[in-house]
Amino acid sequence: MDKKLLLETVQSWHIKLKPEYRGFRCARCQRYMRKAWHVWFDYKGRKCEIHLCRECYKKYGKED
Ligand SMILES: [Zn+2]
Repeated sequence: MDKKLLLETVQSWHIKLKPEYRGFRCARCQRYMRKAWHVWFDYKGRKCEIHLCRECYKKYGKED
């Protein structure tokens, strides 16, 4: 996976302090979806997870 692209995606989020109850969306294109690729990566010693649709997953590269 392209870790730089993963980090850029995470850093583009506007995280709200209040919890949100909403549909499940792709981390990159924000498409609503029922199934997703669950991608885990290390960021500053912490585990982060992002969810990607099929098309965005291809753009990030499947393997290192
Ligand atoms: Zn997507």
